[in-house]
Amino acid sequence: MNKVQSEGVCVYCNKTVKKQGLSRHIATHLKQIELETKKPQNALHLVVSTGPYFLHLLVPAICDLADLDYFLRDIWLECCGHISAFSHVRYGDDIDKDTPIGIAFERIDSLFYAYDFGSTTELGIANKGIYNIPTKQIMLVSRNQPLPIMCSTCQKLPATCMCIVHCDDDSGWYCKVCAPKHKKECSDFADYAKMPVVNSPRCGVCGYTGGLIDKVRDGVYKLPI
Ligand SMILES: [Zn+2]
Ligand SMILES: [Zn+2]
Ligand SMILES: [Zn+2]
Ligand SMILES: [Zn+2]
Repeated sequence: MNKVQSEGVCVYCNKTVKKQGLSRHIATHLKQIELETKKPQNALHLVVSTGPYFLHLLVPAICDLADLDYFLRDIWLECCGHISAFSHVRYGDDIDKDTPIGIAFERIDSLFYAYDFGSTTELGIANKGIYNIPTKQIMLVSRNQPLPIMCSTCQKLPATCMCIVHCDDDSGWYCKVCAPKHKKECSDFADYAKMPVVNSPRCGVCGYTGGLIDKVRDGVYKLPI
């Protein structure tokens, strides 16, 4: 799905903004909120992303990496309790999960994160700014809207499921109408290979079937009316 363009709705003004412009857009809100409050609590604007998938988070500096790990598992990743790790460089030494976020990003603007060292989902985490905004827990500021993944057979309806045996960027994605037809021609699909389309980079990987947070936007793309 690397070709797909993505966009996200801003939690502060409800506008839909393209992926490329969203960090700057959110920064204008955060600067505004910061001016209105005087409390010296630091919060980091983090962007977690891979390909067209992204999360914009406001994270208290005192939260540790383990809190972020739980959040990422809950919204995007958890299938069967695989291990995960944060690192400064790709495939580098793990950073201790007890490390507060504010410390982890003290001398560096981005971290790497990996979930599951078999069918690995790799994410980049970038710090876009630190603000004096009082916040007690990780706040979801924006995320990519469900990607416009269409049925690769009819090209008319959004795909609701995929076949992990036949899936690549251009094939193996099925709408409700075409899925039963593929079931007749693919015994793997009928057996184990059918997976739901969910709004996560772990779509179709291992046993992943969707997240626990923000389920409204975890669904399938909706055609514009
Ligand atoms: Zn906004
Ligand atoms: Zn798994
Ligand atoms: Zn179809
Ligand atoms: Zn198949």
